[in-house]
Amino acid sequence: MIIESPLDPRAAVHDEVIPAGESWLHAIRAGQTFRILDLEGNQAVDTLFYNTHDPVERYSAVDTLQRQRSLYLTAGSALVSTAGRTMLVITADTCGRHDTLGGACSCESNTVRYALDKRHMHSCRDSFVNALVAAGGTLTKRDLTHNINFFMNVPVTADGALRFADGISGAGKYVEMRAEMDVTCLISNCPQLNNPCNGYSPTPVRVLIWD
Ligand SMILES: [Zn+2]
Repeated sequence: MIIESPLDPRAAVHDEVIPAGESWLHAIRAGQTFRILDLEGNQAVDTLFYNTHDPVERYSAVDTLQRQRSLYLTAGSALVSTAGRTMLVITADTCGRHDTLGGACSCESNTVRYALDKRHMHSCRDSFVNALVAAGGTLTKRDLTHNINFFMNVPVTADGALRFADGISGAGKYVEMRAEMDVTCLISNCPQLNNPCNGYSPTPVRVLIWD
């Protein structure tokens, strides 16, 4: 569902570019609005959310899909936690559809899906781990579970198969969500080079937060 935002980037309290292939860990307070902007198009943004005060409670793909009875995320989707509470609500979306089934790329998936010599390529799972280690907090790789892939196109076929397909996002498209609780956002701006999730060319994204 395409819904544009009335918010002005000049009024944002946080405005930052995440370079291609890099990670980002940042707090978003209840009531703030968070936007991810696909600067050059066809970029997958692998994202996890935690309750800032009790990270055992985190984004749950299963509960989110069950609650909305639909497989894709878009405007109106409530991002539900493992405790069944709404963490954020998607309030604007100019891409129209986001994946939460395809998971994050990893060293293991790269070697299984592609070739053994892909083992040393960068992956989202390694980016997540790097960000958690750099932050020095209590989160560890055990806390990396099923994520959202903003802007990524993973269509489910009529007979239930998953495909990684060419992106439907484009330069300047964005998704925006309002936090319903204090959350910590962990992003891997996907470095994947072996499937079309990034158009085979990882690019930067811009993140903005409004009070
Ligand atoms: Zn990835």
